[in-house]
Amino acid sequence: MSDPDPSGPEGDSQAERKMRFLFQLRTRGVTDPRVLAAMEGIDRGLFVRGQFADRAYEDTPLPIPCGQTISQPSVVGLMSQALEVGPRDTVLEVGTGSGYQAAVLSGLARRVYTVDRHRRLVVEAETIFQVLGLHNIIAQVADGSRGLPDQAPFDRILVTAAAEDPPGPLLAQLKIGGIMVVPVGQSDAVQTLIRVTRSQTGFEYDELRQVRFVPLVEGLGQT
Ligand code: SAH
Repeated sequence: MSDPDPSGPEGDSQAERKMRFLFQLRTRGVTDPRVLAAMEGIDRGLFVRGQFADRAYEDTPLPIPCGQTISQPSVVGLMSQALEVGPRDTVLEVGTGSGYQAAVLSGLARRVYTVDRHRRLVVEAETIFQVLGLHNIIAQVADGSRGLPDQAPFDRILVTAAAEDPPGPLLAQLKIGGIMVVPVGQSDAVQTLIRVTRSQTGFEYDELRQVRFVPLVEGLGQT
């Protein structure tokens, strides 16, 4: 290996880029074999367009339309891992964004509902899900801070935008034994990723790590 540039020079083969991408995930703590396999199967390059497309395999968040961001791959991996998704689970993701996290969840769960407040993002993500044949994802335009009452309760809920507190409707839509992973804190500060586990008697909260997400905003977007 004579090339020290972790982002990969131009002309790198697809296989080399993929190996480097998976290696980066492992060194940053993504070790669950099911999560690694799901991420290996989804090409992040499809979810990043325009001037940032050539950085799709770097472990960095990148801008997407509507002023939002596609999360850093290692954070996608760590969140998916913390969610402990089983093959029979129904998952709700709040914050479709590019659709990348939903596509990864699609390989782990039976069914994935994903919602975003921006119609443009939902439409673009759906197009990619079709191309990839990910038929177990149902994408909808909705204010995810209210959850998805018609489909509730969920085995797992993943929120990929920062809330000041875990939204009450989402807690209410979590099954007993269910797990929710959500970044909590002020939108302009570093936030804490927390895992909420619902038991017969209440909710247990674990702090996982510091993260930085765009804010969870109530109501639908203009576009
Ligand atoms: N999971 C995405 C990244 C999400 S960025 C990916 O893999 O690319 C956060 C997303 O949350 C943005 O697209 C934003 O529009 C959305 N969002 C913010 N508040 C929301 C709300 N109340 N309901 C639904 N989506 C929301």
